[in-house]
Amino acid sequence: MRILKEVLLLLSLYAGVALGVFGVWRLWPESKAHKGGSQEDASLLDRAEGKVRDLLHREVTADANDEAVVKEGLRKVQERLAPALGKLSFPLESYIIDSGTVNAVCLPGNIILVYSGLLRRLQSPEELAAILAHEIAHAVHRDPMQALKRELGLAALFAMVGGRGDGVTGRLMHRLVSSGFSRQQELAADEEALRVLAASDIDPKALGDALRRIRGDKADDPGVLQYISTHPGFDERVQLSEKASADWPGKERPIDLDWKQFRAQFRVIR
Ligand SMILES: [Zn+2]
Repeated sequence: MRILKEVLLLLSLYAGVALGVFGVWRLWPESKAHKGGSQEDASLLDRAEGKVRDLLHREVTADANDEAVVKEGLRKVQERLAPALGKLSFPLESYIIDSGTVNAVCLPGNIILVYSGLLRRLQSPEELAAILAHEIAHAVHRDPMQALKRELGLAALFAMVGGRGDGVTGRLMHRLVSSGFSRQQELAADEEALRVLAASDIDPKALGDALRRIRGDKADDPGVLQYISTHPGFDERVQLSEKASADWPGKERPIDLDWKQFRAQFRVIR
């Protein structure tokens, strides 16, 4: 049923896009339509991202875990990373979604979702910081919008700016975006994450630790496979993290968050 729903959504999206493209081309000022060039692409991408962000924001906030302890904990971890982060197109928003899914994802508009299925495997706020730092790096590199542009094409983004993005739901967006990052983008996100962790007084080995815990001793668990398949190069990633830790001259400053209390707030959904 879920697949059918997604297919219908996809079809409605394309129908919306077709109408939208027609409408926008008719209404778009001629000078803009013919200017072309990458600068225009960039501003189109910005506006489409703003539009998608609004759509996603509504959906995600309705689904997110809104326990005060959870929101406060997430804010603390994000705050520790903030000074070391690169420039972002939109303010960062991260949410925890109660679900058995073992995954974390960076959506367009710099909206990051961490599923409690993944979180329940982690053992410390520093490991959560590592997972967040990796997803934030995708936002800094603007990987989600590039993936969306590649999957849907510029015409569809154009249509979105024209107001026909209603068929785009978080689930669909998630599917389009999370299947779209290349191995190279993943490694680049890790490199940036390791830099951010080190600069935030967090031992970069937290990333490798988090990855090992996610895999656990059941690497063939379908839930775990989902994370591994959308984040390729698992062993290489663990090795990079260990090397960054060995080279790190810094000293760890623990994040002041009661992990047990934080974790106790997740509703278990299977
Ligand atoms: Zn990634």
